[in-house]
Amino acid sequence: MLTYEHCTLCPRACGVDRSRGELGFCRMPGTALAARAALHYWEEPIVSGSFGSGTVFFSGCTLRCGFCQNYTISLEQYGAPVDSSRLRDIFLSLIDEGAQNINLVTPTHFLPDILPALTPKLPVPLLYNCGGYESVETLRQLEGLIDIYLPDFKYSDRQLAAQLSGAGDYPEVAATAILEMVRQTGPCVVQDDQLLQGTMVRHLVLPGCVDNSLGVVDWFADHFPDGSVFFSLMAQYTPLGPVSKTPPFDRTVTEEEYAAVESWMELCGIDHGFVQDFAAARRDYVPDFDLTGI
Ligand code: SF4
Repeated sequence: MLTYEHCTLCPRACGVDRSRGELGFCRMPGTALAARAALHYWEEPIVSGSFGSGTVFFSGCTLRCGFCQNYTISLEQYGAPVDSSRLRDIFLSLIDEGAQNINLVTPTHFLPDILPALTPKLPVPLLYNCGGYESVETLRQLEGLIDIYLPDFKYSDRQLAAQLSGAGDYPEVAATAILEMVRQTGPCVVQDDQLLQGTMVRHLVLPGCVDNSLGVVDWFADHFPDGSVFFSLMAQYTPLGPVSKTPPFDRTVTEEEYAAVESWMELCGIDHGFVQDFAAARRDYVPDFDLTGI
C-alpha cells in the first residue's frame, strides 16, 4: 500500500511521516499539490495529437534537478491542494475538453492521493510522465493502471547525476525502473497516430554533456533493439534553473552537440521514436504555472 507515512514512495526512501508534516528530500507535504491542468500540445505528436494531452502538472519533484525548466513548481513548491475527488473531476473535465489521454507529470510523490482518482478506469489512455528515478516496489502498485510510461533517462554519468540531482545512483535506478515499466506495458501500440500503450524513454541533451547522452543511447540500444520501446531525443534545454549561471549550463546545447547525439542514435540503429527539432531550445516549452484548471 502506498502511503505518506514513513515515506518510501521513491528511491530516496526518506522514511519521514509526511502525514504529520515531516518533509523529505522532495519537500512535499502529505496532500497533493498541482500547478496546472490543461490541454498540452508540446509533447511528441503521438502523445499530444490534434486535440492535446490532458496534462496535470504536480508540484514538487523527487529529483529536484538544478537545471529544471519547470523549477517554479519542482523546486519552489508552487501549487494548490487537490484531493482525490478534485483530481477525478479534473481528469474528467480534461476528457470533456477533448484530451486524447490523461498525462500525470511528476506524480510519484503524490500517489496516495492520485491512485483513488484513477478508478473506475478512465476512458482514455493514462500516461505516467516521470523523471525515471522510480522505485520498482512503487511501480508494481501501478501495474494494470498505467497504459503508457514516459520516463526520462537523464544520466548515464553518475557524477553528473550526483551534481545536478543529488542522485549518484540514478543510472542503475532508472535502468531498473524502465525495465519494470516495459515489463508492465509491453510493446508500444500506435493507432491512428496516437500512442495507446507502451513505454517511451525521453532524453534531454545537456550542454557540455555529450558523453552522458551517448551512454544513455548505448544503454537504450543494448536493451531495446527491436523497436518495441520508443526513444525521444530532446533539444529543448533552456538555462532557467538554479545552475543556469554555472557553465556549461548557462547556455543552450550547440548544434554540433545535438548532431553528435543524433548521429550516435542512428549508428546504434535507434530509428523508433522521435528527434526534437534543434530549434526547440526556447522558453515557449515552459507552460504558464498559474493554477489553470486546478
Ligand atoms: S517521495 Fe519525497 S519524502 Fe518520499 S521518499 Fe521520495 S523524496 Fe523522500
